[in-house]
Amino acid sequence: MTFKNVTIAGSGVLGYQIAFQTAFHGFQVTVYDINDAVLEKAKAKFSIMSDAFKKDLNATQKQLDKTFENLSYTSNLTEAVKDADLLIEAVPENPKIKIEFYNMLAKVAPKKTVFATNSSTLLPSHFAEATGRPSKFLALHFANSIWIHNTAEIMGHSATDPKVFNDVVDFAKAIGMLALPLYKEQPGYILNSLLVPLLSAATSLLVSEVSDPETIDKTWMKATGAPVGPFGILDIVGITTAYNIDKIAAEKTKDDLKLKTVAFLKENYIDKNKLGVATGEGFYKY
Ligand code: NAD
Repeated sequence: MTFKNVTIAGSGVLGYQIAFQTAFHGFQVTVYDINDAVLEKAKAKFSIMSDAFKKDLNATQKQLDKTFENLSYTSNLTEAVKDADLLIEAVPENPKIKIEFYNMLAKVAPKKTVFATNSSTLLPSHFAEATGRPSKFLALHFANSIWIHNTAEIMGHSATDPKVFNDVVDFAKAIGMLALPLYKEQPGYILNSLLVPLLSAATSLLVSEVSDPETIDKTWMKATGAPVGPFGILDIVGITTAYNIDKIAAEKTKDDLKLKTVAFLKENYIDKNKLGVATGEGFYKY
């Protein structure tokens, strides 16, 4: 394995999960965030992760103790990357913040460090220049609850070195992920390229009054063997996310059905706080 020391930048929803998963698999992990108060919050979340690993993966106390030994924390970026083989960036999904972060990082990271972004919607080519090392930069995209939904989509940009790409594929496997390589840049990677059109088709069927959520889900589940239908998925993902995606599409295309869908979701779900599993009700009750 080419990488030993891994730095995770950003200890929010995804960052702390990636850090814990990586430390659990024996890598030395440094967690970096903007200040010590945020890092203290991350430490508290690691004990929640520890319980989840026990419950969901039957992790032993010995394995978990070792995981905590593998984790260290700093809010000093130079210190955080001083011996990093790989840095995984999980800072907010905001191009300005990411560019500023890469500009700073480029100045302090050793030459050997490979940078990987966990961005869900932004392409690595947008940041390649800011990293100062385009050939050692690519996307490594995890899903939420990474210890259960253990997909890792690996996507380079046109200048990513194939060896770096393969090293990151090997790293993803080494931390227990199902490594899913993409051969070119694709907005939404594989998963969202498939999922977004499916979910959007489902809401269109509902808004056009072709059928209801239960029937649409039943059709999809019975005919394909899928355990959940599109409306079940929307409730898990959160209807707000679907609403935001549809809103962007509606504003861009001015398509009648899309505009109607956005208004429908707002009136019947967003305004009534029926946002899915998280609020106890969405298309279904929980
Ligand atoms: P988040 O807002 O929960 O966490 C971001 C973290 O970055 C915070 O701890 C914040 O303090 C820190 N931060 C802010 N500015 C920083 C800076 N300049 N340097 C270092 N750290 C900084 O965000 P998140 O949901 O964890 O998302 C992070 C990235 O992961 C995004 O690119 C997002 O698209 C991607 N992602 C998120 C999910 C998800 O389900 N939340 C899934 C896959 C990928």
